[in-house]
Amino acid sequence: MKIHQISLNFKQNLSLPVLPQNTGASESSVQKPVQMSSTSSGLRAYVLPFDNTSKNRFDKAKAYLRTRTAEITKSNKNALKAKGASCFNWNKLDGIQDGIKVFDGMRIKDIAFAAGILGEIMLNRGCYEQCVHCFTGAQPPICEDEKHINKMSWENFESLMNGFKELNERLGFSIFEPRRNLRYDITLFHDSDCSITYLKDINGKVHDFIELQRILYDTTGRPTLFDTAGWDIKDNPGNKETQKRMERYVDYYKQFGMDNMTFNLSVNPFHGTYARSVENHDNELRKKYINRMANVLFTLSPLAFEPNFQFLARALPNGTEGMEGFCEDDLRQLYDEIFDKLKDLYKKDPANEQKVVKTTAEAEQILEQYRLRLKNVETSLNFVARLREFGKNNAKIRELIEKYDKTYEQAPLIFNSYHTKGLIDANGRFYLADNDRVIYPSEIQFNFENRDKETAALAPNFTEVTITPKDIDDYFKQTFILDDDPIKPDSYILLPYH
Ligand code: SF4
Repeated sequence: MKIHQISLNFKQNLSLPVLPQNTGASESSVQKPVQMSSTSSGLRAYVLPFDNTSKNRFDKAKAYLRTRTAEITKSNKNALKAKGASCFNWNKLDGIQDGIKVFDGMRIKDIAFAAGILGEIMLNRGCYEQCVHCFTGAQPPICEDEKHINKMSWENFESLMNGFKELNERLGFSIFEPRRNLRYDITLFHDSDCSITYLKDINGKVHDFIELQRILYDTTGRPTLFDTAGWDIKDNPGNKETQKRMERYVDYYKQFGMDNMTFNLSVNPFHGTYARSVENHDNELRKKYINRMANVLFTLSPLAFEPNFQFLARALPNGTEGMEGFCEDDLRQLYDEIFDKLKDLYKKDPANEQKVVKTTAEAEQILEQYRLRLKNVETSLNFVARLREFGKNNAKIRELIEKYDKTYEQAPLIFNSYHTKGLIDANGRFYLADNDRVIYPSEIQFNFENRDKETAALAPNFTEVTITPKDIDDYFKQTFILDDDPIKPDSYILLPYH
């Protein structure tokens, strides 16, 4: 039996956000950042009128909050900011969330638990890239109909963010903080690529990644990741839009910096197109991947020196018999071919549009920077989802899978771990994931308008063990104060793995 570990910790960070202006459907010029306060217009629209019961609950919770806050800040004004959620008896805070539409029907402990451990908000579900090593075994998006969705609606995302902002305002501290042992970033994806992550509202207005990321930071104070495996340059309207969108993002991040985010570009032999080229000995597919990635690197050139721009480079260890084409040296050979193609693009640029480089010397510097950043290739892989199937007939890979499984068997799964994160699906359902390896359903669901719609199944290794309100009660008993005692040290909840 394996054991799972989860914990809640919080840290205050409510610095003023910057938001890009209207990101209209035309997706043309770079937007300038603008200031937006956490009480911006529209927030109150997400608050429902009180009935008598909820008014009583709210008043009681508010009275406790007021008294307890006064106690906490009596000798140290910064204590609330530093300790936040861990100072309170959350049984007595139940009701403070009443009237906030997205939390309707939820307990405050469930909301605090979800916020404290939140690691992913799944805006888009599904991906066409079909990378063999994909942690989530992403499949193409399912068709949307009256019972199914493949993305979160803008209105639900906005309602979730505004709900948390309103709650933070009521509490006087951020429900997301402090966060000691847990992973700090929150991604806006699970099984999709950020180059195609944007939402359209009911009026057809596009809310792109820049705007979504700023709203996320404004609400949670947490950084995010922009992960992409690149995008095709095939001559179809969707791909042209992606190319234009990415050029606009690059202009924006170059001009305004990449604070509070990391931009990850995945270049590896497991991408669907390249993997098929190896398996089918198809040189045309290989060329297609090389051309695609040369264009991606060309487009991203202005970000090459940004500290938060990095590569995700993964391959099998050299000498993995029968896996030729997928090992570290194969990847380095692939880079060389991509760089040759990239050099061609750079050579043409100074004489033509000067889109990214003005001189050949500048092009050389960027290439050098790319080479430097691609030096480290990760060869200890997460053998989950499709990667378990891939090469399972190969003795060496079976050995690697066994080694991977053994490592996890020995490491207990407990609630309080850097590797554990909470996921909010497009329909508001909340899950827990362990190191991108096992996913636990829970009884927590946010009050989204799409709450009754189904989304695609989650991978990998979806378990039947459901996180119940009792598990969360136990967790709070062990981790948070119950009788306004001094704060307890971090403790753990154990759940069976399967
Ligand atoms: S790794 Fe990323 S790009 Fe590749 S299939 Fe998975 S979600 Fe898509």
